Parts: sequence; structure tokens; C-alpha cells
Amino acid sequence: MASASQTEGSLNSKSYASDRHLLRPEEHNAAHRSVIELALADPRAQIPACFQASYLRYQYFQQRHSLIQINYITQLVFLLYYFADMLIIPDMQLYSASFRLGLAAAVMSACFFLIRYKQNILWADIVLPIGTVFSMGLWIYMLLHSNSPWTDHYLFVSVIFILIANMGVQVTFKPAFYASACIALIAAFGAAALMTFPQMTIFALTFSPICLFSLYISWNNTLNGRRSFLRTLLDEWYLNNLNDLAHTDELTQLYNRRQFVYAAEHKIHEWPTSAATCLLMFDVDHFKKVNDTYGHDVGDQVLQIIANTARKEMRHNDILARFGGEEFIVLIPETQIEDSLMIAERIRQSIAQEQLYLKPDMKLKFTVSIGVAQLNSPQQDLDELIKQADIALYQAKERGRNRVVRYDPSMSAPPEKINQHPDPAALQRIRDLKNNPSGVSIL
Ligand code: GH3
Ligand code: MG
Ligand code: MG
Repeated sequence: MASASQTEGSLNSKSYASDRHLLRPEEHNAAHRSVIELALADPRAQIPACFQASYLRYQYFQQRHSLIQINYITQLVFLLYYFADMLIIPDMQLYSASFRLGLAAAVMSACFFLIRYKQNILWADIVLPIGTVFSMGLWIYMLLHSNSPWTDHYLFVSVIFILIANMGVQVTFKPAFYASACIALIAAFGAAALMTFPQMTIFALTFSPICLFSLYISWNNTLNGRRSFLRTLLDEWYLNNLNDLAHTDELTQLYNRRQFVYAAEHKIHEWPTSAATCLLMFDVDHFKKVNDTYGHDVGDQVLQIIANTARKEMRHNDILARFGGEEFIVLIPETQIEDSLMIAERIRQSIAQEQLYLKPDMKLKFTVSIGVAQLNSPQQDLDELIKQADIALYQAKERGRNRVVRYDPSMSAPPEKINQHPDPAALQRIRDLKNNPSGVSIL
């Protein structure tokens, strides 16, 4: 089970099936992206410590089937070599049969257990090199105790042990390296006991290149596995952040208009429907003056402060977004108009208390006007609700700004709004409203 008690290298296949992400949400930041990029640029493609658990999870799901297959094929070959023993070292037949059967069964069950029940790719990957070193030792033992005249020639078969130890999955390179070193030592010991010096030279000339070449392939396998993991991680990072970019306003990190409409539509038409849904629309007062006097950068900072202040006043299912240039919008579900007016008033006051220090002795204060509208029935659509909040906002501006105004059907719409609205989609919506005989015209 994937829990705090999970051992290194083990994981929960069920949790992975429900969440196939390698990156945790808190890792979708620029710092983690540069960690991945640095690791990819490193010729050894070292996996950063923070991604070790993800790497093992990735390797487990990528490699477990091939690891099981490699283990089973290897054990089959290992068992078939019994017939070679039967021909070349017939006096060791019984010994060969029992040691081959015993070792193959042990390796296969260890591999099966570690993959199936422990889901531990790290240990499963070590089983084959360890098993190979053991079988090499026992095989040399048989050669040394056999009376067959062919033992010196038969020793050349030890290259197969090297190949098997190095050609497995290789989640990490070290087991292959240590297994190769052990097999080479055992082979050297066998060669010294069974061969003449010229034979030993030929054996060394055969064994060493195969050993080095297979070690190189093993190292390459490990590197490719790491690089492919790091690339997948980077792809996932970009995919996530592109999604975020599509949904989020870059300056304030709030939802953008499109995401607001999507989320708010869902909320409004959610079943069971809640009639008590309200909408707040707020706009910075005299913001043009802020831009003209202090510059666009200061204007941007003001927008960020307002976004952060409003965010702090939100409850978990309120939907806050930057609706346009200096306009913000909030859908407040399951809340009566009286409470929504209180929330709006709280937002207005919190923003009015904020200040931006332009110099140590020079601070800029700013305010917002807020329009509040209530969803009258589940049939009323979001567009209409937005228009009502917009009309109330216009009234708040008319009545002197820095205040909260509740929508009332008797209110008149802003006459010049259509010429000033910064968003073409909003213009279209306002034109639609004009053509809507039942709606309130704001032209
Ligand atoms: P009112 O109190 O009536 O709302 O007056 P106002 O000056 O705030 O209203 P107006 O709509 O005339 O000005 C809005 C300004 O907001 C104009 C535009 O340049 C500015 N603006 C829109 N988006 C941004 C932005 O992302 N950053 C900055 N700095 N300014 C923006
Ligand atoms: Mg405005
Ligand atoms: Mg404004």
C-alpha cells in the first residue's frame, strides 16, 4: 500500500492507477523544472533526490513485465544447460540437476514475490545479478570437482553468466557492476585452477571484451531509463503548466474569464440546485489615474494586491476570477444576498485598508466599487446574472465609488459602457443583451 510506511522502491498499483502523475502539485513550479532540466543536462542523468520515489514508480510500471520475462527466459536457459552438463561433465549430473532446479525456483519465486506482492522494482532488479553470481560459483565448483577432461574448454561458457548479469533491466547500474566483478573473480579462480597459461591468456582475451562490452550496454540501459524518466517528467511539467496558463490569469494567478465562466456555469447548473447564489463584480476606482500618475507597473502591483486581498476573503467553494482589465468577479454559491453583501463589504474594506509603498515615505491607497446580484431562479443564466452585477457596479460608481451596491430591477444601465469595455467577447454579450427583449438594456 502506498503510505508513509511504504518502503523505498515499493508502491501501490491502485494509487498509481487512480493518479498516473509523476509530479505532485507542489512540484509544478519553476524551481522543480530547473532541477529536472539540470539533471537532463548532466551526462550521468542522475535522478535528483526529490524524484527518487517517482523514478522507482515509473520504472516499476515501465519495466515490471520485461523484468519478469527476462527472469523466466534466463531461468529456462539456465535449466537447459543441464543437458550440456550431462554431456561435458557427466559425473556431476545429479549435482547439476539439483542445483539448477533449486536456484531457478528460488530466483523465479523471489522475482515474482518482489514484483507482484512487494512491488519493489529495486530489489527485483537485483535478484538476477545475485542469482547469476551464485550459479557461477556453484558451476565452477562442479567444474573443479569433475573428472571430465573438458572442464578447461567448458569454462569459456562463463561469458554467458556475464551476459545474463549485465543484460537485465538495470534500474540502477551498481548491481550489474558488482555482479560482473564477482563473476570475473570466480572465472579467474576457475581458470587458474583448470587452465594452462596459454589457455588462460585466450580465455582472458575472450572474457574481458565481452565483460566490458556488456557492462557498457548495462550502463547505457540505466542511462536511457533515467533520461526517459526525466523527459517524461519534463513533458508532464510543461503539460500541467500549459493547462494552468490556459485557466489562469498570469498577473494575478486568479482564474481567467474563460475558466470563471466554465466553473460558474457548472456551479449554477449543479444538481441539486441552490437558489441562493450571488455574484459580486468589482472594479478598481480611478484606476486610469493610478496608471497615468505612477505608471503601468505600479498599476499591475495594485491589481496583484487586490487579487491577493480578495483571495483571502474567499471560502473554499467561492469562485474568484479576474474578469477583465481591472475588473474582478466572484460567484458565491449557497449564500443569501444579505450574507453576500456582508462578504462584499468585507472585501471592500480589506482592499481600502491595503497600501502600496512607492517610496518609504510615499504610500498609495486604492479602493474598489462592488456590484452584487442574486440568482433569482435556477433558470436564470450566468450572463444575465453578470449583467445585473455589472449594472449594480455602475450604480456604485455613480453614487461616489468605494461602496457596495445591490442590484435592483429599477436601476438604469451604464450608457457609455459599450464604448469602454476592454473585452470583445463582453461587447458581444452586451449587444446580445440589447437584443434581448426581456433583459435590461445597458446601452
Ligand atoms: P472608474 O473608477 O470609473 O472605474 O475609473 P477607472 O479609471 O478605473 O476606469 P477606466 O475603465 O477608465 O480605466 C481602466 C484602466 O485600467 C484602463 C486600462 O489601461 C487599465 N488596465 C486594464 N488592464 C490593466 C492591466 O493589466 N494593468 C494595468 N496596469 N492597467 C490596466
Ligand atoms: Mg473598469
Ligand atoms: Mg475602474
